[in-house]
Amino acid sequence: MLSLLEEHAEGLNRRFVVQLADGASVEAVLYRGDSLCVSCQVGCAVGCPFCASGARGLARPLSLEELEEQVLAVEALGERVARVTVSGVGEPLHNPAVPSFLAWCRERRIAPSLTTSGGPLPRLREAIHLPHNGLTISVHAGTEETRARVVPRGPALAPLFEVLEDEIPRLSRSRQRKIALAYLAVAELNDSDDELDAFIARARPLGVWVHLYAYNPVPTSAHRAVTRERYEAMYRRLSASGLRVRMSCKARVDPNGGCGTLVAARHLTGGSRRIDAAASPVR
Ligand code: SF4
Repeated sequence: MLSLLEEHAEGLNRRFVVQLADGASVEAVLYRGDSLCVSCQVGCAVGCPFCASGARGLARPLSLEELEEQVLAVEALGERVARVTVSGVGEPLHNPAVPSFLAWCRERRIAPSLTTSGGPLPRLREAIHLPHNGLTISVHAGTEETRARVVPRGPALAPLFEVLEDEIPRLSRSRQRKIALAYLAVAELNDSDDELDAFIARARPLGVWVHLYAYNPVPTSAHRAVTRERYEAMYRRLSASGLRVRMSCKARVDPNGGCGTLVAARHLTGGSRRIDAAASPVR
């Protein structure tokens, strides 16, 4: 059984260090009281330059048991987990245990969702049709040049959108609403009007929602967030094109567990406070 060590409980989110049996650690975050973001790998091979999770590369995937135990350990604190998202440390399509984990969540009446950078593409084809409650594909670019910088070891845009154009029309209308594209706004990387227009041209024919995420600065990256004014201007440009766009919710821009802030370590580092999962909830 893994251990949970609570590192921070300030702000909107409760962020847990998850100690694994081999001494490695990942993190999980409880949002809005009942939505749990779990990690699926110790590190990540995709290497997005804005993200702390993959800053040290990939050590190993988590087992199905380790995925399940993140949920069980938080429930053991007395929390009710209604939704799970595989959006923490790691690329879900690089871990073959994730489809079984989604099925396990469903059996427990927990609505599961996931966020992916899109590759390998054969796994993306399958994942679109899994019984998830939401699949968000991180695109973050409109041109191939920017895509290669923002998602360095993810699929290029042309083959990625080819898969989406093939598979999304095969879904029912209600299932199509479960698919979304993500665009994380990073200053001087992907925030120009030309980049947005190139993204719009690719995204609009799909008819899916777009999540425009604000970037959370992390110590492992020199990249910067766009200003609030620029972020709102990007939102207006995407919306004016006819795309259905959502901005980041407060939980996602919370420095405590927001997008891109979770970390993994091959060996557990000190300084965290251990939670006794049998005790009453820690607040
Ligand atoms: S954003 Fe996702 S895919 Fe990219 S490095 Fe971070 S965990 Fe990996």
